[in-house]
Amino acid sequence: MNTFEQMIERGHERVCFHQDPDSGVRVIIAVHSTRLGNALGGTRRWHYATEADALYDVLRLSEGMTLKAAVSDLAMGGAKSVVLLPRPGHPITEAEARAVGRFVETLDGAYIAAADVGVTSQYVDWMAMETDHVMGGVRRSRGGDPSPHTARGTVNAMRAALAHLGQSTSLRGLTVAIQGIGHVGRHLVRLLTGHGARVIVSDIDTDRVASVVDEFGVTSVPPNEILSVECDVLAPCALGGVIDATMSPRLRCRIIAGAANNMLDDPDEDAVALRNQGILYAPDLIANAGGLIHLAGLYLGLTEQEIDRKIDNIESTMATVLHESESLPSTYAAMIAYADRRIAQGNTSSKEQVHAG
Ligand code: NAD
Repeated sequence: MNTFEQMIERGHERVCFHQDPDSGVRVIIAVHSTRLGNALGGTRRWHYATEADALYDVLRLSEGMTLKAAVSDLAMGGAKSVVLLPRPGHPITEAEARAVGRFVETLDGAYIAAADVGVTSQYVDWMAMETDHVMGGVRRSRGGDPSPHTARGTVNAMRAALAHLGQSTSLRGLTVAIQGIGHVGRHLVRLLTGHGARVIVSDIDTDRVASVVDEFGVTSVPPNEILSVECDVLAPCALGGVIDATMSPRLRCRIIAGAANNMLDDPDEDAVALRNQGILYAPDLIANAGGLIHLAGLYLGLTEQEIDRKIDNIESTMATVLHESESLPSTYAAMIAYADRRIAQGNTSSKEQVHAG
C-alpha cells in the first residue's frame, strides 16, 4: 500500500517527512486528527529496518493518540513523530533534538510533541529551544515525566476491571504480574505494594529487577515466564504486541490491565480470543491515558484538580466501556465505539476550547 492509501485507510490528515542536512536526522510527523483540538503525541527515537516500517509505526501510533485523547475527554487530537535512527542505540545529541524541535515548529501548534521511547527530558528541553509546542521537559518545557500519572491511571483501570467482575476494588491480597519495570512499571510497583497487592515483576534489565525487589520486597521471574504467571491481573508495561494468538492460550490471569501501548498484536482478533478464554482485557488506550491527561491538561490550561479528576475518571470510563462491551464482540470494539462517539460529538468543553489554540 502506498503512503496516501495508508493515510486514507486510517484517516490521517497529514504526514510530514523532514530531514536536516547538518545533524543528518530524518523524521516523520503524522497528524492523525485535529478534529477535537491540536494534536499531542510523543516523539519516538527508533532504528527501523525499513522506511516503510517507520511509516507504519507512526501512522498506527498517531491514530492511537486520537483514540486516547477522545476516550480521555480531552479537547485534543492525535499525532506522533518518529526519528529514524541510522543504527540501534544511536546517541542523543543537542543538534538532533533541536532539529526535531524546528520540524515541530513548522506545524505551528497543530502538533505538540512530547517524550516517547528513546527520548529523555533533556531531549525535550533541547527541542523546546526551537519550539513552544512541546511538553514533558524539566527546565524549558512543562510537565516533566508523565509516568507517575500513567501508573495511577492504570491502577484506576484495574479497579474498574475488578468491579466489572463483581469483585472488591480493594487491591489488598491481589496478585499482579508486571512485565517491564521501567518508568511506568516501577511507579506501578510502588502504588500496588502500597495498596497491599502481591506483585511479581520481570524485566530484561536485571539491575532494574534487583533494585525493585530490594526496595519493595516483590518477587521476580525470568522475562520468558512473566506473561504466563498465574495471577489475578497481568500488567504488560514493556513493549507493544506482546499478546498474540500464540501467547494468549498460555495466559493464566483473569484480567489484563497494563500501560504498554498496543499490547495486543492484532487487537480485533486477539481481544475476541481473550474474551473466549474468559480473560477480561481492559483496553490499554484507556488504562494508560494518565500521562497524556497530565501533559494535555497542563497544555490546555486545566487546573491540577481538574487534571486529577480526569485521571480519576479513567475508572468510570473503563467501567462504561467494559459494560458496553457486553453487547459487542470485545472490549476493544467497545473502546473504539466509545472513542468514535466522543469524536462525533466534537469538542464540548468551552474552557478547553479557549485554551487549545
Ligand atoms: P521504559 O522504556 O521506561 O520501560 C520499559 C521497560 O520494559 C524497560 O525496563 C525494559 O527493559 C523492559 N522490557 C523490554 N522488553 C521486555 C521484556 N521482553 N520483558 C520484560 N521487560 C522488558 O518505558 P515506559 O515509559 O515505562 O513505558 C512502558 C510502556 O508503556 C510502553 O509501551 C509505553 O509506550 C507505554 N506508555 C508509557 C507512558 C508513560 O507515561 N511513560 C504513557 C502511556 C503508555
